[in-house]
Amino acid sequence: LVATQDLTRLDPLTGLFNRRSLVEQAPRLWRQARRDGTRVAALVLDLDHFKRLNDAHGHAAGDAVLQEVAGALSAAVRPSDILARTGGEELVVLGLVSDPDEAAHLAERLRSAVAAGRTAAGHAVTASIGVALTRPTDGESATDGLWRLVDRADAAMYEAKQQGRDRVVALAVPRARSPLAVDAPAPTPVDVG
Ligand code: GH3
Ligand code: MG
Ligand code: MG
Repeated sequence: LVATQDLTRLDPLTGLFNRRSLVEQAPRLWRQARRDGTRVAALVLDLDHFKRLNDAHGHAAGDAVLQEVAGALSAAVRPSDILARTGGEELVVLGLVSDPDEAAHLAERLRSAVAAGRTAAGHAVTASIGVALTRPTDGESATDGLWRLVDRADAAMYEAKQQGRDRVVALAVPRARSPLAVDAPAPTPVDVG
């Protein structure tokens, strides 16, 4: 129903939700997680060596790869997951999960779906994926919670890059946050890929 879609909430290249839409949908997800006693998972996906692909084959080929990736991910996420293109070659999936294993399996399915894709011209790409989970608490702002969660998933994604790309890394789930915890050492990365 394109006519009723608000195009300011969709990314024009891929048709996925954009960053603004992600922010707008977070409160609903946070409420649902509170009500159902589940957790919210964020998966941050960053395409691997995408600059190289653009340099070798041109920006249009890169755009086609982005569209192919969007299609592959759309088919691989669960119906209730929110899939957004948040930056140039960076995407975020938000979804409710009951435990870290469920999030890790979803991430692995997405990683494999991206790696299996090919454009009509035969170009392919892989993605590095970082995973983080949170259990929303009473009174927490969904917007604050969203960015805290995405920041942690982003850190895990960078760890996946350092470990060689085309893989999933999940940060160990930290204990409930207290103001004293800010100086605690960073959580230990756990490779689930
Ligand atoms: P890494 O594996 O470390 O992520 O390497 P990378 O090359 O993917 O990362 P880098 O940040 O160096 O480059 C990102 C590239 O993504 C550069 C930019 O031109 C390209 N890019 C960003 N948005 C678009 C887009 O909309 N279309 C195309 N074709 N390329 C894009
Ligand atoms: Mg990037
Ligand atoms: Mg990249």
